Amino acid sequence: MLDPLGGLERTHTCGELREQDVGKDVVLMGWAAKKRDFGIFTFIDLRDRYGLTQVVVSEEEAEDAHTKAKSVRGEYVVAVKGTVVKREEGTVNEKLPTGAVEVRVIEILILNEAKTLPFELEKSGSQNLASEDLRLKYRYVDLRRRFLQDNLMVRAKALRKMREFMDSKGFVEIETPILLKSTPEGARDFVVPSRIHSGKFFALPQSPQILKQITMISGLDRYYQLARCFRDEDLRADRQPEFTQLDIEMSFANQEMVFRVMEGVLAEVFSLSDAKFETPFPRMTYADAMRRYGSDKPDIRFGMELIDLSGEFEGTDFPPFAKTLEAGGEIKCIVASGCAGYSRKILDGHQEFVKRYGASGLAWIKLGDETTSSLMKALGEEKINSLAEAAGAENGDAIFLVAGRKSVVAASLGALRKEIAKAEDLVPKGVYKPLWVTEFPMFEFNEDTENYDPMHHPFTSLMDEDVPLFKRAIEGGEKDLLGKIRAVAYDIVINGYEIGSGSIRVHQSEIQSLIFKAQGLTPETARERFGFFLEALEYGTPPHGGFAAGVERIVMLLCGTDNIRDVLAFPKTASAQDLMMDSPGEVDKDQLDELGLKIAT
Ligand code: ASP
Repeated sequence: MLDPLGGLERTHTCGELREQDVGKDVVLMGWAAKKRDFGIFTFIDLRDRYGLTQVVVSEEEAEDAHTKAKSVRGEYVVAVKGTVVKREEGTVNEKLPTGAVEVRVIEILILNEAKTLPFELEKSGSQNLASEDLRLKYRYVDLRRRFLQDNLMVRAKALRKMREFMDSKGFVEIETPILLKSTPEGARDFVVPSRIHSGKFFALPQSPQILKQITMISGLDRYYQLARCFRDEDLRADRQPEFTQLDIEMSFANQEMVFRVMEGVLAEVFSLSDAKFETPFPRMTYADAMRRYGSDKPDIRFGMELIDLSGEFEGTDFPPFAKTLEAGGEIKCIVASGCAGYSRKILDGHQEFVKRYGASGLAWIKLGDETTSSLMKALGEEKINSLAEAAGAENGDAIFLVAGRKSVVAASLGALRKEIAKAEDLVPKGVYKPLWVTEFPMFEFNEDTENYDPMHHPFTSLMDEDVPLFKRAIEGGEKDLLGKIRAVAYDIVINGYEIGSGSIRVHQSEIQSLIFKAQGLTPETARERFGFFLEALEYGTPPHGGFAAGVERIVMLLCGTDNIRDVLAFPKTASAQDLMMDSPGEVDKDQLDELGLKIAT
């Protein structure tokens, strides 16, 4: 028989009692995390969101309560009434904030029972023993873990800090609809069929991009939203089909103004952690980031930059390198300090690793080690020395070289740089190194469609210097030039993670039309998809710009986890399923009929 809660109220939480509370009569409620029977004493560790308190029931002092306590099992929900006492010497638990005291129980209420859990909570720390699928199916159980509860609390605090900061700077929180029309951010849309308008669909926002720009046209001046975004992308472990962004937009803004706001809000949010966070953030152009780190999201907590050795190899007769240079490719290297002693096995591992990024192989030079590579034999000592000098390498170092197309060299060496840094423990812990990456290309070539797609989105303005080039590309039909045009677009990167993106926007309807044209949309398609927006731009649009920062990424950094599911209460799996609710699921035939839909397969 369960006990009713009745009018009973908690006096304290399970994380609250300290030595100064000794002598108080208290009521605690929570889950029985653990129970130990010692003859006339039964101990229960009572747990709630706030912590854990040991309660003890003695057969002598409270016979009925003791009998009841003995029937308590793991995760039963119980309430106890009792008195706070000091724990006996030797039984104090230093690790527990409540560890100096315990509650001597006089009455216990069993509010609810619990089945045996599908996995043990204690054994499922962040390095979990139970499979993640099992934990996601029983998410309500998993969420009882301290680690996940702490993460959710960090998330809540981060959201509050964001709101407080944005409010203090005069930004207005505006909610935009979820049932929308396509707002492209380079992913597929999630669509929702309309019952009333049979055969028509809403799209869920990939971001509120167009709407936030429209609030600027409306004169709202400064907008922000903790916006839920939906993107139907190909599966990737670190992505979720829905996520939250701190989305901002401001009128009469230049890049500097957006930078100041974003640096301000992030400094505020990261003040939740002990690590130092300096503003203003350093800046690096996209071209420099790619050249120096082979990545547009470089982790600048450590060096090991990519060094171009193409010039050094001019006229080489080392066949793979000669071929690369002939084909217009490049040869770059990284220097792994003190790694000349790398074994064959490690070298082979790195070979395989760069191949995953499209490299045809990895050449190496070891300085001051007996083993030699085919490249070293081909070069001879003198050339090795001059290469070492060009690369800034010293005795005891290993130089890793990749030859190939620019994009392949960047991707493979950039990834190897991170891999070696991890293996050699070169990444400092407990620091955040933010960076602005600026001057992104406006378009990138899509090999599948042979079109130029906007790298960020089509609403990004071009750099003034590149407008003539853009006009030549469009009006002169020199499409290849599109790849050279830079946008006033920028990302924030912290510790190698892209935290968010933004740009100064196009605010003239004609230029917006030209960008749609450049990306291959016919005027009809552009009008059909974005006609309302092109028209809106004609009714007095102020220059404006903004940014969107990914809340999950920020909270992941704050919580020190690289699993996005650890910072969401109810995440989807990497294959976009909710295992607890078992969604996506099927719908009734009636519902389909009402929507005028038929399942074809
Ligand atoms: N809408 C963009 C995004 O979601 C951000 C922005 O340009 O403000 O990435």
